[in-house]
Amino acid sequence: MDATEQSLRQSLSEKSSSVEAQGNAVRALKASRAAKPDIDAAIELLNKLKLEKSAVEKELQSTISGSGNGSLNREAFRKAVVNTLERRLFYIPSFKIYSGVAGLFDYGPPGCAIKSNVLSFWRQHFILEENMLEVDCPCVTPEVVLKASGHVDKFTDLMVKDEKTGTCYRADHLLKDYCTEKLEKDLTISADKAAELKDVLAVMEDFSPEQLGAKIKEYGITAPDTKNPLSDPYPFNLMFQTSIGPSGLIPGYMRPETAQGIFVNFKDLYYYNGRKLPFAAAQIGQAFRNEISPRQGLLRVREFTLAEIEHFVDPENKSHPKFPDVAKLEFLMFPREEQMSGQSAKKLCLGEAVATGTVNNETLGYFIGRVYLFLTRLGIDKERLRFRQHLANEMAHYAADCWDAEIESSYGWIECVGIADRSAYDLRAHSDKSGVPLVAEEKFAEPKEVEKLVITPVKKELGLAFKGNQKNVVESLEAMNEEEAMEMKATLESKGEVEFFVCTLKKNVTIKKNMVSISKEKKKEHQRVFTPSVIEPSFGIGRIIYCLYEHCFSTRPSKAGDEQLNVFRFPPLVAPIKCTVFPLVQNQQFEEAAKVISKELASVGISHKIDITGTSIGKRYARTDELGVPFAITVDSETSVTIRERDSKDQIRVSLKEAASVVSSVAEGKMTWQDVWASFPHHSSAALDE
Ligand code: AMP
Repeated sequence: MDATEQSLRQSLSEKSSSVEAQGNAVRALKASRAAKPDIDAAIELLNKLKLEKSAVEKELQSTISGSGNGSLNREAFRKAVVNTLERRLFYIPSFKIYSGVAGLFDYGPPGCAIKSNVLSFWRQHFILEENMLEVDCPCVTPEVVLKASGHVDKFTDLMVKDEKTGTCYRADHLLKDYCTEKLEKDLTISADKAAELKDVLAVMEDFSPEQLGAKIKEYGITAPDTKNPLSDPYPFNLMFQTSIGPSGLIPGYMRPETAQGIFVNFKDLYYYNGRKLPFAAAQIGQAFRNEISPRQGLLRVREFTLAEIEHFVDPENKSHPKFPDVAKLEFLMFPREEQMSGQSAKKLCLGEAVATGTVNNETLGYFIGRVYLFLTRLGIDKERLRFRQHLANEMAHYAADCWDAEIESSYGWIECVGIADRSAYDLRAHSDKSGVPLVAEEKFAEPKEVEKLVITPVKKELGLAFKGNQKNVVESLEAMNEEEAMEMKATLESKGEVEFFVCTLKKNVTIKKNMVSISKEKKKEHQRVFTPSVIEPSFGIGRIIYCLYEHCFSTRPSKAGDEQLNVFRFPPLVAPIKCTVFPLVQNQQFEEAAKVISKELASVGISHKIDITGTSIGKRYARTDELGVPFAITVDSETSVTIRERDSKDQIRVSLKEAASVVSSVAEGKMTWQDVWASFPHHSSAALDE
């Protein structure tokens, strides 16, 4: 916890005790009918102490708000953003005329344009620049695929139910809300309690269902709407179930992610790529998750666009040839150890983070760097972007390392991109289930004599000892690496048995000598056949767009100072409309000139809007600022026009003929505004603004 906050909480609790003690003293004096001057003096002291207490309270409140926790400021800010977004149809609650459905939203015209710009930059930045193979697979997926991937059994969130009404809530969200609200609104909690709540917030992703249930009980958390008691947490599968075809005999699901479509196509894609690794495949498409109680607007929805990359790599060589391109980047990183010890995210150099092993390997590091560049070029504030490493339990047992790109918004830090080294889990799972080997080969120039580790679990003995858990134990034994296996062999030989942790059972079992044979055999090999590892950056496009809305939003006072005007400072790259064209006054010549410019803008692919309403130019600027339009062309003569840049409000004058090409150069990033400002006659236009 912040040192100032801690000392203020300490001081507030001391002041509260003093006020209470003095209050008791006053009451005692009154009860004993003490002399009036004595009572007055005691009351005066009580009032003084109350004033001191309220000063500390104010200071503590402003410290909490100042450190970005001020829920009041955040809520007011969010309201202003969301009102503007809904009013200008960036998005619309779906099926609104029928009262809508929680967690489903439509994108309106500016929202669609922004989404299309974000996706086309994503294609440019990843698919094109990294030579990825794009695929487009169906949303409806047969059960067998999602059974193999583990989603049918494990794609769950923990749910609690209001014991009386049956209303469902996400268990971790209730605990998070409780801790956050206590920290922000309850100034009376002690410094120790505040530290404990902060610790719970930092490590709750790591909680087991039992730990989560125990905390909910310990804190006396009840159903938010009714205050009724809650059930114990239990898992709820988030997939929407369906069946394929009229017979209803082929069970299926709406895909909860796009990745599985890529994995099942691995063999064909590997051949398409000339049987060479590494390579990456990518997919943009809809994903469906039946979220338990979606409450965070566009951030937690039941249908959303995912953009996913599966980068297949040799597990023995996770270096990346382009890593030096990103190695010098420095940004906020939040490694596991810092989270567990209650520290905050810190600026790290990516190259060092990989060199010191904080990030598991270069390829994972490379994608972290590329995601950072992607998000900041879109307009995400780099001070409100951090890469948080998954805690040990949070990460799937097969994963080598995972980092989430989290963006700070009025809802707190939100995971927008997950970047995981999923090792060989997915391809192995689909190989096992389908019987089709999803493997890669490395041909040796010369045959190699290799010593191969052979682990042979003795299924009969394991079956007798572990019954229904036999399969988990066998899988864990087979998954041992050489070091682990040789260590086990040595212990079995010396002691006859060994304690062995089975990840999928989350417990130790005793392995006896007759249950497994471990040896090394010499063989001549012409090639190495292996299951590639996969590194997966997974982008929630809607979350990124919402955070972008918040990071680009600001208000400015109108010229008369009587109202606040909204501005979205979208970079030209994402702005839904790049340029507006205004005839300064309503006359035929200016309108004709505006039409000529509009035609030229259309021919160079620049989205734009003509505004021929007779309202003041300042009002028209204000209207377009609200849509985040970065440039405005004002036609004020038949031969030349002005171009105004939204953020500086500066204007340049260019000939009518040049207008479209100048706007297109700056909108597409071929020139900066500073370049064009220096090349054309210019002046500041603030005077014209509303
Ligand atoms: P996951 O597969 O759970 O790591 O999710 C991948 C990405 O999808 C996350 O980083 C989020 O950006 C996004 N995402 C997950 N769930 C939702 C949701 N309910 N609504 C919107 N975006 C989501």
